[in-house]
Amino acid sequence: MSNTETHAFQTEVNQLLKLMIHALYSNKEIFLRELVSNASDALDKLRFEAVSNDALHEGQDELAIEVRFDKEARTVTIADNGIGMTRDEVIANIGTIANSGTKKFLESLSGDQAKDSNLIGQFGVGFYSSFIVADEVALETRKAGDDQAQGTRWTSKGEGEFTLENIEKATKGTTITLHLKEDMDEFLDQFRLKNIISTYSDHINFPIKMVKTEWDEEAKEEKSTDELEQVNKATALWTQPKSELSEEDYTNFYQTISHDFNEPLAHIHNKVEGTLEYTSLLYIPKQAPFDLYDRERRYGLKLYVKRVFIMDDAEHLMPAYLRFVRGVIDSADLPLNVSREILQSNKVVDKIRSASVKRVLDQLAKLAKDDDKTLYQGFWSQFGNVLKEGVVEDFANKGKIAKLLRFASTHEGSQEQNVSLEQYVDRMQEGQEAIYYIIADTHAAAKGSPHLEMFRKKGIEVLLMSDRIDEWLVSHLNEFDGKALKSITSADLTEFEEDAEKDLSEEDKKAREALTEKVKKAVEDSVSDVRITHRLTDSPACVVTAEGGISSHMARIMEQMGQ
Ligand code: ADP
Ligand code: MG
Repeated sequence: MSNTETHAFQTEVNQLLKLMIHALYSNKEIFLRELVSNASDALDKLRFEAVSNDALHEGQDELAIEVRFDKEARTVTIADNGIGMTRDEVIANIGTIANSGTKKFLESLSGDQAKDSNLIGQFGVGFYSSFIVADEVALETRKAGDDQAQGTRWTSKGEGEFTLENIEKATKGTTITLHLKEDMDEFLDQFRLKNIISTYSDHINFPIKMVKTEWDEEAKEEKSTDELEQVNKATALWTQPKSELSEEDYTNFYQTISHDFNEPLAHIHNKVEGTLEYTSLLYIPKQAPFDLYDRERRYGLKLYVKRVFIMDDAEHLMPAYLRFVRGVIDSADLPLNVSREILQSNKVVDKIRSASVKRVLDQLAKLAKDDDKTLYQGFWSQFGNVLKEGVVEDFANKGKIAKLLRFASTHEGSQEQNVSLEQYVDRMQEGQEAIYYIIADTHAAAKGSPHLEMFRKKGIEVLLMSDRIDEWLVSHLNEFDGKALKSITSADLTEFEEDAEKDLSEEDKKAREALTEKVKKAVEDSVSDVRITHRLTDSPACVVTAEGGISSHMARIMEQMGQ
C-alpha cells in the first residue's frame, strides 16, 4: 500500500482552527486538559470493551496516561494505552466535523471576532486545541486488538491539510506529539506541566505519569531519571459508590475543596442517570466563612465535565442564597469548553441547578426534623439570614424555604430563633386568622414594645423579629399555610377592635369622638390620623403605621440612610 496520503481539512475545520487559536490564546494551557481528557475517554472505552473481550488489554493491565516533554526537540507528548483508532476512524474523528451541533455553531458565527470568541465556549474545542500551542501535531495510533502493522500516523501543521501514513505500532492506543510554536517554551517544563495536570486533571480516573526528575549537582539542573511518577490523584471521589466511601473520606474531600478545617454539617451525594447524566456531591458547612456577606465573594461549587475540571466558583449552579454550599457537580452533558456565559443560559445547567437546590433544601428540612435540634439550630445561627434571602430570590421554592425559617417569639421569650412558622400555626388560638409579628431594631426593643400588650393579654403568640433583612423578608412572605403574616404595629388590625366597640353606649362613643378630635388638633402636623384603640392595656398611646404605608422600623432605616 502506498504509504503517505494527503487530505484536505473540511472548510469548517479551517474556520474553527483560526477562531480557536485567536479566542483561546489567553487560556492556552487547556490543550493539555483536552488531550488528557481524550486519553482518559480512550481508556474508559477500552476498559468498557475489555469487560467482554479481555484480549483487548494485550497483556497491559495498567491503563495510564503518560505526559513527556523534550527540550531539544521542543515537543510535548501525551500517550495513552487506550482503545486507539483505525485509519478510518482517524479520518472520521480527526480532521472532520461530524458533530452537527458544531456545524450549526459554525454557521451561527458572525465574523465579528469578539462576538465569536465568546461563542466558542459553546462546544468542546477538543483535539484541535493542540494547534493553540503547536505548529505541527503528529498522532500515532493503533486500535486495541488490531495487528501491530495496522497503526496509523496522522500529521498536520493545522493549515488546511493533513497527511496519513501506515505505521507499525507495538502498543495499542494513541500517542500525540506536539511540536511547540516558538513562544511556547513555558510548556517545556516539568513544574508547569505538573501544575496544569493537578489543576485540571487531578481527579481523572486514571494515573497520569511523568518522568521523574532529579537534581543533578554537576550540571546544576533537573535531570530526567528512568522512573515514572504519578502526578495526579486519580480518584474522582464523587464517582465512587456511596457504599465504598466512609465519613472520613467525605470529610477529607470536603476539607481539600473548601479549605475549611471543620467537618461539614452534612453531605449530599447523588448520581443521576437518564436523560441527564451527572453526579453531585454537595456539602453544607458548619461554620460561615468570614466573607459570607461580601457581594464579591466567590461561590463554592466546582464544575467538572466527565471528571475533567472546568471551573471553580460556578455561581450559576447555586442561587446566591445557598452560596454557602460547597462541592462538585460533574456533568456528562456539557461541553468541556463551557464558559460562564454559556452556563448562565443553559438548559442542562438549569436542570442540574434546580435539582441541586431541591436536594439542599430537602437535606435542611431533614436536619430540621431531627429529634436533636442542635445541628439545625447551629446551621440557623450561621446561615439563617442568608437563607432568608431565598424567600425573596427563589419564588419556586418559597414554601419550602418558609418552613425552614426560625424566629424568636413571645411563646419562648428567649432571643434564640427557634420557632418555626409551622409551630406557630399549630399553636394559633381558635378564631385567630393571622400570624402576628413585630419588627424592631433589637430583640429587646421588639420584646418590650407596647404593641404587644393586648396580644399578651389575649395569649396570642407574636414573632419577634430584629434582623436587618426581616423587613424585606416579610414584605415578600405575605402568607404561610393560608394564614396572612401581619405586623402588629400596622393599623390594619380591625379584628381586635370590633369586639370591644360593640359594648359601648352612645354616650361613651360621643365622648370618645370628642377626645379624638382634640388629640388630632394637637398633633395634626406629625400624624395623618388619630384613632381610639383597644390594643393597649398599660400604655396610653402608641404610633402605628397606616395601611400600605412604610413601617416605622423601615422609616427609621431609611432615615439612617439619609432618605
Ligand atoms: P470529543 O472528545 O469531544 O469527542 P475531540 O476533538 O477531543 O472531541 O476528539 C475527537 C474524537 O477523536 C474523539 O471523539 C475520539 O473519537 C477521537 N480521539 C481523540 N483523541 C483520542 C485518543 N487519545 N484515543 C482515541 N480516540 C481519540
Ligand atoms: Mg475531547
